[in-house]
Amino acid sequence: EKQIILKNRPKGEPSEADFEFQEIESQEPKAGQVLLESIFISVDPYLRGRMRDEESYIEPFEVGKPIESMIVAKVLKSHNPTLEAGDHVIGMLDWKTKQVHSGENLRKIDSAVAPLSAYLGVLGLTGLTAFLALDKIGDLKSGETLLVSGAAGAVGSVVGQIGKIKGCKVVGIAGSDEKIQHIKEKFGFDDGINYKTTKDMKKAIEEACPEGVDVYFDNVGGEILDATLQNINKAARIINCGAISIYNKTEIPTGPRPEGILIKKSALMQGFLVRDHMAEFESAIKQLAGWLQEGKLKYDETIVNGFENTPKAFIQLFEGKNTGKMLVKI
Ligand code: NDP
Repeated sequence: EKQIILKNRPKGEPSEADFEFQEIESQEPKAGQVLLESIFISVDPYLRGRMRDEESYIEPFEVGKPIESMIVAKVLKSHNPTLEAGDHVIGMLDWKTKQVHSGENLRKIDSAVAPLSAYLGVLGLTGLTAFLALDKIGDLKSGETLLVSGAAGAVGSVVGQIGKIKGCKVVGIAGSDEKIQHIKEKFGFDDGINYKTTKDMKKAIEEACPEGVDVYFDNVGGEILDATLQNINKAARIINCGAISIYNKTEIPTGPRPEGILIKKSALMQGFLVRDHMAEFESAIKQLAGWLQEGKLKYDETIVNGFENTPKAFIQLFEGKNTGKMLVKI
């Protein structure tokens, strides 16, 4: 068996040298425990935050200990009455090929309902984030303009499609022409902006959103947020969901101050954490699964093969190598 530990806290951009692979001895589950084999590992931008030694909504990773993230696993042996060998489960698990676990806080998943990988994306935390943040803060009305950054990613691509279901004009911001073409063709976005080739984002947003931005779903923060704020309408809602453009910065950059524009536009800017809304996960998943079945919701996955490529897959999130949910298949 193998595990991946945090070797040292990354400085700036994470690199493969920040992780270490270790051989571990195989373990036998005791009474109440289960033996799990990892099948799909979710790599997520927020893990970068947990690699810093600072206070947050979730405790930092410890140097020398395994990284953990959401993982789909198969139960190989069970001494726990709630699970049987052969069951598939999802939970916050260590980056290990196999592990013994208490069996607590694991959710059984059914590959007959949806492919196992979907439980880490469209029917998992990223789909839930898109759905619940729009529900709690977005307050989308038909005919409004919804702008989303990170638009070809796991959260962003679901956000755009929910916007279309709600009758909005949807514009996406992403990092390549291929991604822009893809979100229009596959997900029905009305328009898109490649932020990597656009010099004047304020102007590009103004052109793509001639009636102004009513809801901005922000996955990236930084200069794209600054440019968007200059294009918001009266009573706009700005959802601070993610800020990947600053996750690797050693110093937080300053930008134009937002308060003037928020006052002038009576706009709402609100942070969102999906884990604050766990009570609503089940009903939200039901809605997302319904849209999937009706063909109103589609999704992409970028699947990297091999446990040994887990750190690389994580690092590639910051290089935009993924379209849709980035996963590692063991
Ligand atoms: P994605 O699938 O969107 O992957 C990350 C994407 O971010 C990349 O594909 C890349 O696409 C883009 N990106 C990377 N660096 C930059 C940069 N410097 N500027 C702009 N874009 C960049 O990841 P997720 O869907 O999992 O997450 C999206 C955001 O939502 C993240 O910020 C994440 O932290 C946040 N999040 C928040 C949650 C919450 O509860 N608040 C829960 C889940 C996610 P491109 O090619 O377009 O650059």
